[in-house]
Amino acid sequence: MRASAIFCLALLLAAAPCNRAGAASCPADTTETLTIRESTLCLLIDDPTPSRRLLLRTWVERSASIVADYYGRFPAPLAVLSLTSMEGGGVGGGRTTNDSGLRIQVRIGREASSDSLSNDWVLVHEMVHLALPEVGRRHNWLAEGLATYVEGVARAQFGNRDIADVWAEDRHSMPMGLPREGEGGMDQTPTWGRTYWGGALYCLEAEVAIREQTRNRVGLQTALRAILKQTGGYGFERDIDEVLRIGDAATGTRVLDDLYRQIKTTPQATDLDLLWTRLGVPRDPKTQPFDDHAPLAAIRIAITAPHNF
Ligand SMILES: [Zn+2]
Repeated sequence: MRASAIFCLALLLAAAPCNRAGAASCPADTTETLTIRESTLCLLIDDPTPSRRLLLRTWVERSASIVADYYGRFPAPLAVLSLTSMEGGGVGGGRTTNDSGLRIQVRIGREASSDSLSNDWVLVHEMVHLALPEVGRRHNWLAEGLATYVEGVARAQFGNRDIADVWAEDRHSMPMGLPREGEGGMDQTPTWGRTYWGGALYCLEAEVAIREQTRNRVGLQTALRAILKQTGGYGFERDIDEVLRIGDAATGTRVLDDLYRQIKTTPQATDLDLLWTRLGVPRDPKTQPFDDHAPLAAIRIAITAPHNF
């Protein structure tokens, strides 16, 4: 998840991109510091047990590496990670904010094991939020859609998640992103389904279209890397049209902008069955084989191929 950012007075006064990146050093209550590539992660862990701290540090390092590999670098020079204990063995809800520096908050069960943390999606999802600038509440579907879509692809590329599992979730969950009777376009319909899975469907459709138009030479990842590089990510505010233009320039297409114009104020019922058939994704990817002779099979394979640039 991603908290709505607060009103940024500086943007209005200066008529310039607002910098929300915050402090350049870790807060005083930091319990340990991690260096991921060139970036600093300040960990605030409330559990003093050395073995727990080691477990959590390993989880954070792996999650940060997954995201750094996808984007070519960790998407913020400095971020605070507040890891709070809760009952049980799972990973609780996450939250990423940019109103006083970049901060990710996640709750972790005291019984969480190395295995359960290895299968966790929450922290990767939250870290992906750091790579997109603040585009405003109306376009929250883009932020949540990207975090939902990239989490699976980046973990598969890293070898942290089965490729079949990623496509199985997409096939199962993308229908929740389709417009229901009476709903409007993406900028007008902030329901859970449209925000998370409608946004993820926008990403998948953009990915496929970019690859079709570039003969599978580049994909959405190339666009997202350029957006991070040129905007600085979640520590800054940018207009959505500018963000999509940056992405399109990097791929030499107009896919992101064209697709956004089609769906921003108009509900669009994508033919998902046709999309899965063209990609060669079976009804149940966990038990049935992919169709490698499908017209877009090469595109499907390229999306989740290890460290695909
Ligand atoms: Zn989110």
